[in-house]
Amino acid sequence: MQPTASHFVNGAYLDDTAGTALPVIYPATGEVIAQLHHATPAVLEAALAAADAARAGWAATPAADRGRILRRAADIMRERNRDLSVIETMDTGKPLSETLVADASSGADALEYFGGLIGALTGDHIPLGADWAYTMREPLGLCVGIGAWNYPTQIVCWKAAPALACGNTMVFKPSETTPLAALQIAAIFTEAGLPPGVFNVIQGAGDVGGALVTDPRVAKVSLTGSAPTGRKVYAAAAASMKQVTMELGGKSPLVIFDDADLEDAVSAAINANFYASGQVCSNGTRVFVQGGIKAAFLDRLAQRVGNATIGDPLDEATNFGPMASERQLEIVQGFIAKGLAEGARLICGGGRVDRAGFYLQPTIFADVTDDMTLAREEIFGPVLSVLDFDTEAEVLARANATDYGLAAGVMTRDLARAHRMVAGFQAGTCWINSYNLTPAGMPFGGAKSSGFGRENARASLEAYSQMKSVYVGMGRVEAAY
Ligand code: NDP
Repeated sequence: MQPTASHFVNGAYLDDTAGTALPVIYPATGEVIAQLHHATPAVLEAALAAADAARAGWAATPAADRGRILRRAADIMRERNRDLSVIETMDTGKPLSETLVADASSGADALEYFGGLIGALTGDHIPLGADWAYTMREPLGLCVGIGAWNYPTQIVCWKAAPALACGNTMVFKPSETTPLAALQIAAIFTEAGLPPGVFNVIQGAGDVGGALVTDPRVAKVSLTGSAPTGRKVYAAAAASMKQVTMELGGKSPLVIFDDADLEDAVSAAINANFYASGQVCSNGTRVFVQGGIKAAFLDRLAQRVGNATIGDPLDEATNFGPMASERQLEIVQGFIAKGLAEGARLICGGGRVDRAGFYLQPTIFADVTDDMTLAREEIFGPVLSVLDFDTEAEVLARANATDYGLAAGVMTRDLARAHRMVAGFQAGTCWINSYNLTPAGMPFGGAKSSGFGRENARASLEAYSQMKSVYVGMGRVEAAY
């Protein structure tokens, strides 16, 4: 798994072994599988200088040509889906059965989508009598992307695809927990014809991210991470009026009404809690279940979760893998202990899996109440909490009683009720009779403390470009004196 070098700058791999050592740990065994280095100040400067120098040329490249390069990169990613999926699995520990269908493929979807859409990013013509005005959208310039560790491939593509399509350049810093995937994608971009300097990857922890955010050459920062980091990065970016996209955490509700299809409700709850061992920002970790379906739901959920195949993530029969890091495992164990101490009823799981690596059993708690830590804090692990409710009005108020607002879901056969619930949810992304599907064409992002701005869809083209208005005078210029 050892990559050619730690960083990818100005169209080529780059290393500086003077940087602090960055060991890459395979979560399924705890073994070190690669040795990288954090960016030194020299590497950081090289990346920023390269992205700054590439700005004018890339912005002047016709949109059709930019789009073609992105679509070529998408094709290469699809051809190499298996290799990229193995890297994603080694980076994160997610089972290959997931990564083969969710990571490089969704990254390629974004590249293809924005590569195709960019030609449609046009301005308006505004008639003003004899005079007229028009608008045009211009790139912002040098953008910084900072990623979390749960979807390293997808996060790169969700940020780079719209940014590059719009004519911006980018310096991307992956999470230090999962540094491998972004390097592969940078190399693929170069192979697809991206000019040197347009997309650069440097490794490092929060200090490297912080240095990128405060650099005066940077016009925009897009962060995927936790809400506390988001607050820091947002504040730092504000000092020099940089634009931001903040994709932060959540504590999202999934509401299951009595009339929901039982198997679909259980499937939605599984998809909302256990994919990627629960390390998904939009997870519906507060599962509100109405009284009439509760007993059947809990029985069937426990039964089906008991069928999860926990094992070697590289074995395609495995569908539940380890946590991404030992630190995250310990954090989640702490939440489980709090859940027990505060009186939640453990239905299944709760402990480590008896094998090497950072495995935690899929865990279900029932009788969780709104005041418990399980219901209030983002856990980011395989812990599903079932809360009881009686009425629609009650559950909507309780679903919204959180500072977060990333996502929400509702399971019911009554579509009028589903749309009423969605209208009432304080959340940026909602699902009706479904959960956690995030196609490239659908805007994704949060409300309240879950962030600002949207990724994917047309909305993100607007987030990576700025509007210029042009008034065109067609007659003589009048003045008062
Ligand atoms: P963190 O907030 O800890 O880190 C996110 C990234 O920011 C990392 O690359 C980190 O570097 C970097 N960073 C940390 N401090 C700073 C700083 N002061 N300035 C600039 N960069 C900084 O999040 P995690 O990596 O732990 O990811 C989990 C979180 O991400 C969860 O809250 C989850 O909900 C959220 N998330 C949100 C998604 C969304 O789309 N809304 C999707 C996926 C995850 P390093 O860690 O290397 O030190």
